[in-house]
Amino acid sequence: MPSDNPLSAEQVDRLYERLKREQGAAGYHLNPDEGFAKDLVQGLFVNEKRYGYQSCPCRLASGDAADDRDIVCPCDYRDPDLSEYDACYCGLYVSEKVAKGEKVPAPIPERRPPPDEREAAKSQRGPDRSALAYPVWRCHVCGYLCARDEPPERCPICKVTKDRFERFL
Ligand code: SF4
Repeated sequence: MPSDNPLSAEQVDRLYERLKREQGAAGYHLNPDEGFAKDLVQGLFVNEKRYGYQSCPCRLASGDAADDRDIVCPCDYRDPDLSEYDACYCGLYVSEKVAKGEKVPAPIPERRPPPDEREAAKSQRGPDRSALAYPVWRCHVCGYLCARDEPPERCPICKVTKDRFERFL
């Protein structure tokens, strides 16, 4: 995790409380170890200062916004890791069982594919879309689907911004 500390404790507290409120409303849980979670929140701020976006505090970003989009927090891998391991890769988000102290998460392996696989996935051809009345958009983070001309400004489920949607159909 980056070690710079450009923030006051109040700023970290504010982002922590906002994530807790917004993500909590969407059914996500922050790590119940508040000090640990706040260290990660601080890492998000450090990366925002360094790269211009809140990339994952536990992964090395490239500094190329398009290349790093999948690891902007919440990353594309959070939900599958929560389902499979009860925590995201960093441990900022945990399952309900972990949040309630009923379970301790195991170590979480890196789910992000290596660069060559990510590149190959981008060039895969999709299905024929010509018969659809509207394009279908998919949120990369939570999988929410919607059929409309443009993706929403924010995902109504996990609250990520429009740029995290891809054309699905
Ligand atoms: S959700 Fe993803 S980006 Fe955010 S802290 Fe967890 S592993 Fe890192």
